[in-house]
Amino acid sequence: MKSKIIIVMGVSGSGKTTLGSMLAEKLNTDFFDGDDFHPKENIAKMSNGIPLTDDDRIGWLDRINEKGVELIQNNKSGVFACSALKESYRKRLSNTLEKEILFVYPKGSQEVIQRRMDARKDHFMPSNLLDSQFSILEEPKNAIEIDLTKTPEQMLEDTIKKMALSEFGLVGLGVMGKSLARNLANNGTKLSLFNRYVKGSEEGIANKFINSFEELSDAQGFEDLEDFVESMQTPRKIFLMIKAGKETDEFIEKIKPFLNAEDVLIDGGNSHFKDTKRRIEYLEKEGIYFVGTGVSGGEEGALKGPSIMPSGNFDAYKTIEPFLKKIAAKDKKGLDCCTYIGPEGSGHFIKMVHNGIEYAEMQLIAEVYALLRYSNQMSPDEISEVFKEWNQGELKSYLLEISSEILTKKEGDNCLLDMILDQAGNKGTGNWTTVTATEMGMPATMITSALFARYVSSVREKYGNLSLITEQSFIKLEIETVKNAYSLARIINHQQGFTLIKIASEEYRWNLNLSEISRIWTNGCIIRSTLMEEISAVFKHNSDIFDDLSIFENVNKFRSALKTFCVSSLMAELPIPTMLAANDFVNSLNGEIKTANIIQAQRDFFGAHTYQRTDAERGKFFHTNW
Ligand code: NDP
Repeated sequence: MKSKIIIVMGVSGSGKTTLGSMLAEKLNTDFFDGDDFHPKENIAKMSNGIPLTDDDRIGWLDRINEKGVELIQNNKSGVFACSALKESYRKRLSNTLEKEILFVYPKGSQEVIQRRMDARKDHFMPSNLLDSQFSILEEPKNAIEIDLTKTPEQMLEDTIKKMALSEFGLVGLGVMGKSLARNLANNGTKLSLFNRYVKGSEEGIANKFINSFEELSDAQGFEDLEDFVESMQTPRKIFLMIKAGKETDEFIEKIKPFLNAEDVLIDGGNSHFKDTKRRIEYLEKEGIYFVGTGVSGGEEGALKGPSIMPSGNFDAYKTIEPFLKKIAAKDKKGLDCCTYIGPEGSGHFIKMVHNGIEYAEMQLIAEVYALLRYSNQMSPDEISEVFKEWNQGELKSYLLEISSEILTKKEGDNCLLDMILDQAGNKGTGNWTTVTATEMGMPATMITSALFARYVSSVREKYGNLSLITEQSFIKLEIETVKNAYSLARIINHQQGFTLIKIASEEYRWNLNLSEISRIWTNGCIIRSTLMEEISAVFKHNSDIFDDLSIFENVNKFRSALKTFCVSSLMAELPIPTMLAANDFVNSLNGEIKTANIIQAQRDFFGAHTYQRTDAERGKFFHTNW
């Protein structure tokens, strides 16, 4: 066993000291009574019958924590019996010991404990003391629970048995699953791992993976689903990192017979938010929780700290929260890039929109690259330098950073980029965002155009032999102009994406917190950027990016640059659908120029669809016999 700090916690009379000392003996490690760590002032207060406050307990908790840290530094374990009644106390005790600490909780009703205390010879426990302990007791969500009505020997046996069980399960050892498993193990989580297998050809996948990484030495690999489920502490917490779609439904059917009420399935795949809602309702009938969880960061993010977006039943979320927070990226203030998003499939919804925003962000970089490469006639290395410089300032983003690196990658004398087939794939989330936006009547024009740009790249080959007359003319643009155009297009993209989330939140009554959502996207995820940090601050006081004056000023300030970018690109015959979408969106916001009125007139002409008038009150409809 790796070194552990085991805290046996509970109210007075729960048997924590007896169990703790027996456990220490069994594990051949030192036992510590938490009460021995009280500073002098606390002892004085207690002996005068003055109750301790939360502030008084800070010093006490820190001293226990320091002892724990000292033990771990010396590769030793220790068992402490300690009241640790509140979540905040346990957090304090866990400070820097998050990977090593384990709570054991002898659990029982107040009546049972009072009866036990009354039966103890020479020991009187006033019932009001027990009352107050129970009233402040916040039961731990992630402790090993032991039934305190059993004999101490049985409690010890149960504790040892449960300690051998895994805390967390993970299914699907593909790109993401492997990284997440290593991240969980690196953060001290004892894991059970499962991957489907093909008899005779692909066997022992989980165990081979476990044997390849030192941090997984405590993990257990399985090929039998029932054994996998039985290997975990209850309620079970199982991360599914498998293919989204019918594969997820099929897997749920396979694992369901082995699960119990209160077990939690966490779907970290890119599932559709409506499927997630359906699955939550389906499993709820059996009392099984299903937490739809967006995960972003790719392979590296999953290993080092992804952005995590869980949704569904809040109590179920609370049981998995410590595990998810441990592996999540941290924002600039050190807060976890993981937060409860909301009910139903809201986590998968925002992950879908995240991916949509990502599509447009990637396409914008591609279009800036096109202008610099073909119109400005710059080399990939020169463009890389431009991106690198932008990435030092307010345009800093993960996607810009990797694009700058991509442009310098060589294969022999060639730029690797030039050897890559000009065809972009997709896995469907951009499509879902587009469909959802159209269903909701929302103009996510940039995401849509970025999606269609990928589709166009796939059909282009078919028309490869068309002889188009070219009349390209190249106007070299100032880098500053390109930068400003790109800045504005990004603002529009984020405005459209977040508005889609806001409207969905209203429509589905999810009550989403846009500031928190953008905050957890400031690190770990693919669309992390300085702009996202600004947006998170804006959403603290506004519900629309345009409500922030300094951002809206940029729309006016950079309009002309965006227009110039588009004109130059068109003159050079460059495909720039997403920049054009941004430019069109800005133009369409201008109320002076009217075009929808003629659409409405046409509708009224052929279909008597009626129209509203500028000189009449809203909601009053007119029809003309054209
Ligand atoms: P991979 O293709 O690398 O792995 C898929 C995993 O799913 C494999 O372990 C595979 O098993 C398993 N699997 C496939 N079908 C079934 C099935 N019918 N029953 C049980 N297991 C099955 O994909 P990723 O790791 O990249 O992605 C996993 C999930 O995470 C997907 O939903 C994806 O959309 C999502 N995701 C991916 C991100 C990424 O950057 N790659 C980012 C965020 C989310 P086997 O090896 O036997 O085929």
